[in-house]
Amino acid sequence: MPPQLVAGGPRVLLRRLREIMAERQSAQARLDKLVSVIASNMVAEVCSIYLRRAGGVLELFATEGLNRNAVHRTRLKPGEGLVGLVAQTAAPLNLSNAPEHPSFSYRPETGEDPYRSFLAVPIVRGERVFGVLTVQNRTARHYDEEEEEALATIAMVLAEVVAQGTLVDPGEIDDSELSPTSPVTVQGEGLAEGLAIGSVFLHEPRVRVERMIADDPAAELRRLEEALESLRVAVDAMLESSELELTGDTREVIEAYRLFANDQGWTQRLMDAVRSGLTAEAAVERVQDELRARITRSNDVYLRDRLHDFEDLARRLLRHLSASDGATAEALPERAVVVARTMGPAELLDYARHGILGLVVEEAGQSSHIAIVARSMDIPLVGGAEGVADIARGGDSIVVDAESGEVRIRPPKEIVNAYRGKQALLAQRVARFAAIRDQPAITRDGTRITLNMNAGLVLDLPHLTDSGADGIGLFRTELQFLIGAKMPRLADQIALYRQVLDAAGGKPVVFRTLDLGGDKIPSYGRTAREENPALGWRAIRIALDRPGLLRYQMRALIMAAQGRPLRVMLPMIAELREFEQARLLIGKELERAERVGIATPGELRLGAMIEVPSLLFGLEQILSNADFLSVGSNDLLQFAFACDRTNPKVARRYDTLAPCVLSLLRHIATTANRLNRLTSVSVCGEIAGRPLEAMVLLALGFTSLSMHASMIGPVKMMARALDTRVLRPLVLELCGSSDATVRPLLLDFTERHGIPVGR
Ligand code: PEP
Ligand code: MG
Repeated sequence: MPPQLVAGGPRVLLRRLREIMAERQSAQARLDKLVSVIASNMVAEVCSIYLRRAGGVLELFATEGLNRNAVHRTRLKPGEGLVGLVAQTAAPLNLSNAPEHPSFSYRPETGEDPYRSFLAVPIVRGERVFGVLTVQNRTARHYDEEEEEALATIAMVLAEVVAQGTLVDPGEIDDSELSPTSPVTVQGEGLAEGLAIGSVFLHEPRVRVERMIADDPAAELRRLEEALESLRVAVDAMLESSELELTGDTREVIEAYRLFANDQGWTQRLMDAVRSGLTAEAAVERVQDELRARITRSNDVYLRDRLHDFEDLARRLLRHLSASDGATAEALPERAVVVARTMGPAELLDYARHGILGLVVEEAGQSSHIAIVARSMDIPLVGGAEGVADIARGGDSIVVDAESGEVRIRPPKEIVNAYRGKQALLAQRVARFAAIRDQPAITRDGTRITLNMNAGLVLDLPHLTDSGADGIGLFRTELQFLIGAKMPRLADQIALYRQVLDAAGGKPVVFRTLDLGGDKIPSYGRTAREENPALGWRAIRIALDRPGLLRYQMRALIMAAQGRPLRVMLPMIAELREFEQARLLIGKELERAERVGIATPGELRLGAMIEVPSLLFGLEQILSNADFLSVGSNDLLQFAFACDRTNPKVARRYDTLAPCVLSLLRHIATTANRLNRLTSVSVCGEIAGRPLEAMVLLALGFTSLSMHASMIGPVKMMARALDTRVLRPLVLELCGSSDATVRPLLLDFTERHGIPVGR
């Protein structure tokens, strides 16, 4: 008789497995029983469980049919043999003649020579492959779909049990791969400064599937169908909603989403999983785990993007099934550190309102909106920390060190103590900076340096006082457009600008007009895709092509100023002509204000940013025409090095202290000085807020810097210890260096002269 599933199918088997798992005996005894029951139920001569150990090695943990002496002795390197292949690809393997397969590797200690047919499925949970479950038979045969389905279902239940740590005896395992309670360190990238020690709160956690095995499969199928239907209705409603006013790409995204919700393959797989005996929730998880594991191992970018859609759909479907709304900010515990796969800025604002200590987001980069908001709110943030949302569990202890980019989950006590020490040191440093808050930034040779802060959100405003900033050197007005779901109306813009001017209370504020485009695309305003967005239709280019937008913004600024002086700065100016055209538009808006009887600003100073290299070759012209200038070194260096600032592969390729950067900055300073305009030129890119780079700027003669508020203390401390007359000759000499960077030489200078350049 050919082997086949015994009567009652996987449902009976699942129930039996549940009983075994509940038995009070050693983990090994339970595992042994499991393989024996699976083998007999599937009429297989062999059933084996391989689990992952440190370094991805797969160890035989239990077997029925193979030589028992091989248990815990047979270990396969990642990718080794058929079992290794299944773990690596996270895909099942169904072979009627296994020894013929090119990946087959024979392990004599197992005594597996007589077995021809082979069926193996990965034991997956989240994106992690915990191990592999196999069945084998002597005869060369092909396991049918139903059998494959049944084994996958069992593997899913096993994955859940492995994740709970109950398949392994305490103390038996000395590595972290199988234990969900062991410490794990994930390396990410610090995106917003600080150090947080607290406990994990999972943002949009996987809905925990409590019940895996269905009592009444027919009823379960109905539940799934109903949930799928209400999911589809909800997606349709989203698409039809006039409130959201979906347009362009947003609409396309939702339309694609609707297609997925109706995807026959997806629905079919869900139904099959329920038919095999799982609850509807467990079926959603299983299908999702398979999809995720397969897609994350493929290099197909399109597929990877689609995965987010399916992930989101699966989460929603689970919520429809459990009728829960998921974790909300209201449920935040004390000392919460939020861990998320992805998160939008609005959600962060919501959490911040309820108080959180830190944040870890798997998918976030330096210039992401979430990073901008986190920095504004002084919430330490680590991004790019792959896998954290799967590894961390709600309530786990966690340390987020944005300085090193390390995230430590469930760290040992000693490690936490070490971080507490570091936290105390950081607090001392902050206290030292606070102590000089009201002192001026005067160098040892007597030059008064203006230290302004960069801002863009209402949340930044309190920093004007607590940082001791002289003013706001760069107010990024586009942030208001980026964080909202809708385009801000005139009244919204007026309200924000008025709040800023009121908070500044007479300190100067430089409003930069909208710097949209490039990597700053509002969710509602996506336009045609560009090949090179950084070089595309952005900033002043949009303003000149759509004059209404700039005039509207100027109208808001004029109305907010109510007669007070205004400073306005234009981004991405590439040539004088653009500056002059913008000035004309602004002039028209001033005329309009007079005409309709609105108070015009007491004085309106118009500046330009130096961030396009073409401007460097006509500096005299712009210096003679603009009221002030500010070096946007982030973009200027991106273009000078032809190096995308948002692409992590190249973003750190060139050092900001390369000799050519020194020469470039020197050219700006000398030209401005020649025209007696150096005091009207500031620097507002990232380099202004890095003490070592800022030191070079001061030596070159710049006297006005604008930076993130938290860097004012460190830069001021550096400035007060610096004698620019001593450093200047060295900096001029270093302009001619042939080294890739002169950072080490500058650090050496700071050590010899006792200049603090730490953060
Ligand atoms: C810059 O480019 O240096 C700058 C300050 O502007 P942003 O970072 O907003 O592009
Ligand atoms: Mg810029």
